[in-house]
Amino acid sequence: QAKNSGRNTWFVFRPGMNAEIERRRELEVELKLAIERGEFELHLQPRVDTVAGEVTSYEALLRWPHPERGFIGPAEFIQVAEASGNIVEIGAWVIREACRLLAEELPDHHISINVSPVQFRHPGFIEMLGENVRRSGVRPEQIELEITESVLIDDDRRAQQILKGLKRMGFGIALDDFGTGYSSLSYLSRYPFDTIKLDRRFVANLGVVDSAEVIVRTIIDLGRGLGMKVVAEGVETIDEAVFLVASGCSEIQGFLFGEPQPVGRVQRWCDPLLMADLRGRIVAADAD
Ligand code: C2E
Ligand code: MG
Ligand code: MG
Ligand code: MG
Repeated sequence: QAKNSGRNTWFVFRPGMNAEIERRRELEVELKLAIERGEFELHLQPRVDTVAGEVTSYEALLRWPHPERGFIGPAEFIQVAEASGNIVEIGAWVIREACRLLAEELPDHHISINVSPVQFRHPGFIEMLGENVRRSGVRPEQIELEITESVLIDDDRRAQQILKGLKRMGFGIALDDFGTGYSSLSYLSRYPFDTIKLDRRFVANLGVVDSAEVIVRTIIDLGRGLGMKVVAEGVETIDEAVFLVASGCSEIQGFLFGEPQPVGRVQRWCDPLLMADLRGRIVAADAD
């Protein structure tokens, strides 16, 4: 419709654009207040070692229960926080809270934390991390930092230095959303990743898109061949889990094994019935 309106196009779009800009600006201000008011929550989602049948760690996922607008998901507000720079403060809160959870609620457990590219490049990032683990008495080995390929794109040398520094301190490093960025293969040999996380969209394509099985198997082989753990994200069905485990995927995360929850409600053990069902189906699939 806008196309047909010729030179009126600008007037057609303008109100919508203003509303969008206005909403972002509002969100920006509210994000600042949210930090001060302590409105954020950190939820945890279990990551499961399907061979051992154990929850090996939890991914920390940020939640913002907004007082008026209800629940706002990170997919919406992280971008705004990155653009305004608020993400540095929010990210520091996430790390502080994750350390508190490890120290007070989940001793000897592991948590993985998402790190925004903006936060990663912030000059004080490494010191802030170091201070938080020291103060809380958490071992850096209990924390895995999840970064995405976008962290690596701009400034190769700098990113490499930071990653090596973090590794030297003892933190684990995971490459999140693997397969969604560019030149993934070259990154794998250049950076010291402990884990790659197979992006949810590949998992969702299993049984739907013909090529998905080959792609997923290849990524798993690649990661394992390089000595990395391969974690599949977004696993919702037992069929997906069967295929992933049979293909050699070491760990699984997804609604099938547990949704992100506050620490008091998060699933800490694997459902034995689900595990038995999974094992039975893998044996049956092997026999075929
Ligand atoms: P991510 O790191 O790839 O996190 C996985 C996302 O998949 C989470 O969405 C999680 O709730 C969702 N998920 C887990 N299992 C399933 C499943 O079985 N099915 C489906 N459909 N979804 C599943 P969420 O919590 O909305 O977070 C979205 C993204 O926001 C995250 O993607 C991450 O990139 C970012 N994020 C979340 N928390 C933080 C944070 O503390 N700091 C930063 N910088 N980014 C964060
Ligand atoms: Mg993640
Ligand atoms: Mg991911
Ligand atoms: Mg992501």
